[in-house]
Amino acid sequence: MRTALIAGNWKMNGSLALVERFAQAFVETRMPAGVEVALMVPSPYLDAARQAFGGTLVATGAQTLHSESGGAFTGEVSGSMLAEFGARYVLVGHSERRTLFHEDDAAVLARVKAALAVDLVPILCVGESLTEREANRTEAIVLGQVAAVFDVLEPSERERMLIAYEPVWAIGTGKTASPEQAQAVHAAIRARLKEYDAALAAGTRLLYGGSMKAANAAELLAQPDIDGGLVGGASLQIDDFLAICQSA
Ligand code: PGA
Repeated sequence: MRTALIAGNWKMNGSLALVERFAQAFVETRMPAGVEVALMVPSPYLDAARQAFGGTLVATGAQTLHSESGGAFTGEVSGSMLAEFGARYVLVGHSERRTLFHEDDAAVLARVKAALAVDLVPILCVGESLTEREANRTEAIVLGQVAAVFDVLEPSERERMLIAYEPVWAIGTGKTASPEQAQAVHAAIRARLKEYDAALAAGTRLLYGGSMKAANAAELLAQPDIDGGLVGGASLQIDDFLAICQSA
């Protein structure tokens, strides 16, 4: 009942030429039924991606947004601008945003609210650092990040969220969480959602991210509580990304 979603996160990478090449590949390649695909491209490429992917099933998304709808915030981009250029999804609280751009739970919540206000679908990213895992604090950290947002949202807003579990130690490092490690955290997140509502827990899509690649995707995606992937590095390689989509 939960449709798999494979979402690519290009981060600050890519080009117009790469958008075109991906679009061509998705025109030529059949996707398995019941798999959704999305690409989170840098905002300047959103319009081109919308046009290029128009004839395919690939949705587009952005990697962040500002919490305000407009104003004197030089350099920032609002949710309504992203929506106007075709974004359907937006990542919120990616660990690079939390660490490099100092977005704390309050900033993450404000961005989730801003996204929901303009009908973007937020993908809330959560995850523990290696130190936190080694101190047995994985669940406390991850569930705390989930609660910081979900406690505040209205029930109707919670239903519009996706969550991506991305252990920080697995992002861009080549170290993937084992299927068992990932499944355990996904199950804990789903159990936490059940405290709000059983239907919410059953319906919310939980993605795994962190060095997902063609070689490990099938095993991860076969876990009962893993409903898709958030793919960084491998989403820049057409063959790898297509292979991940096909293993969903
Ligand atoms: P990675 O990145 O697949 O390169 O580890 C995942 C992410 O940061 O979303």
